[in-house]
Amino acid sequence: LTRTFSDVLRQVSGKSSISEKNIQDAVEEIKIALLEADVNLRVVRRFVNHTIEEARGEKVLRSVNPGQQFIKIVHDRMVNLLGSETEGLQLKGPDTLSPILFMGLQGSGKTTTCAKLALRLKKEGRKPLLVAADLVRPAAVKQLQLLGEQTGVPVFAVEGEKKPVKVVKQALSFAKKNSFNTMIVDTSGRMHLDDDLMKEIQEINSVLKPVEGLLVADAMTGQQAVEIAKEFNERVGITGVILSKFDSDTRGGAALSLKSVTKKPIKYVGVGEKIDELEQFHPDRMASRILGMGDVVSLVEKAQETIQEEEAEELQKKLQSSTFTLQDYLEQFTRIKKMGSLQSLVEMIPGMKGNIDEDALNSKEMKKEEAIILSMTLQERHNHRIIGPSRRKRIASGSGTSVFDVNRLLKKFDKMRLMMKKMTKNKKLQAQMLSQF
Ligand code: GDP
Ligand code: MG
Repeated sequence: LTRTFSDVLRQVSGKSSISEKNIQDAVEEIKIALLEADVNLRVVRRFVNHTIEEARGEKVLRSVNPGQQFIKIVHDRMVNLLGSETEGLQLKGPDTLSPILFMGLQGSGKTTTCAKLALRLKKEGRKPLLVAADLVRPAAVKQLQLLGEQTGVPVFAVEGEKKPVKVVKQALSFAKKNSFNTMIVDTSGRMHLDDDLMKEIQEINSVLKPVEGLLVADAMTGQQAVEIAKEFNERVGITGVILSKFDSDTRGGAALSLKSVTKKPIKYVGVGEKIDELEQFHPDRMASRILGMGDVVSLVEKAQETIQEEEAEELQKKLQSSTFTLQDYLEQFTRIKKMGSLQSLVEMIPGMKGNIDEDALNSKEMKKEEAIILSMTLQERHNHRIIGPSRRKRIASGSGTSVFDVNRLLKKFDKMRLMMKKMTKNKKLQAQMLSQF
């Protein structure tokens, strides 16, 4: 059914569609852009090939070329891949302690980011405690205490203690006793991944049982960050990534690789050395930065908007002049499906707003009507008056419905056109009426 349906649409519109050939240049450009942004080569290949697969045959909008449209598709897909919406932390309610474990290599930005997150959560109304469990670097505890003073968040530290796990155990009971509801544990990193580091983190992890295990990865290290994330995820288990130092001029390709390799969301982005420079992660901004083709993307967006407006105007004209055909009616079904609701269709029509019964749209009725119209020839759809008894019989058997159903649809359609004509001046009534059909 969907095949014939899209075939029909193509026939009707007569516009060109995306083929491997007419987007060749764009594909090359995209590959280069992604590699320049330091996206892993394997990820680039897989990503681009999948997107070509998906985009093949898609209708090309007027006023843009197939390559440009493909770039927009790549952008949208990348946004989806990066996480369609911004992901926050999965913390427990305010009366239960939510431990958060930080991990990452030395210098990646763990200590700074712990403090940034503590400040953020404090502002959100939680009661955080910072825990100094990096006992390797001599000045690490002091660094965290200083940051604690700046943010006004208490820091738990045990003087002279050499074992991070012991600090964590004591911190847990301290936090519970003093009714902190969030505990952010800073740990030590090494210059490179090694077994000692992993064992230490694993041990802390099993004692702490964190609700969030966050890996801090330096955006500037690119591909290396991906390897590190993979390793931590396999050996300790992470729930998300914070990409630090995003204020450097990196294009951020690591983000895409990180997500596609670990399947774990990027939750925050560090954008400076200052304590408040931690931002929520925005997939669309990240995609634009990685792809670096914002101009083309907004060009295509504009074209899409224009077409939508034109379609809406055309629809309105048709409604008013009663040249609205069954083919138009059918196209509204597709549009409704594409946009998710009739409400948005109605809102697209200038001056038309109304409350639409969503249930009526997903009903069997709509599917039935769609099937009936699809079984008609184009000629029949454009002029339903030619549909006599024998055509009705043919259409019914072609659509797996009955002549009764076909009759009902045609009668309803006639009535609808008549009412539309009468009501062209009353937009509100129009909307209400549309909702009945
Ligand atoms: P750790 O060894 O993982 O604890 O890393 P630190 O928190 O000590 O940070 C290492 C360095 O990176 C410090 O000089 C921080 O100021 C700096 N840093 C951390 N996050 C950011 C960031 O988002 N942007 C910039 N520009 N610098 C950062
Ligand atoms: Mg540190």
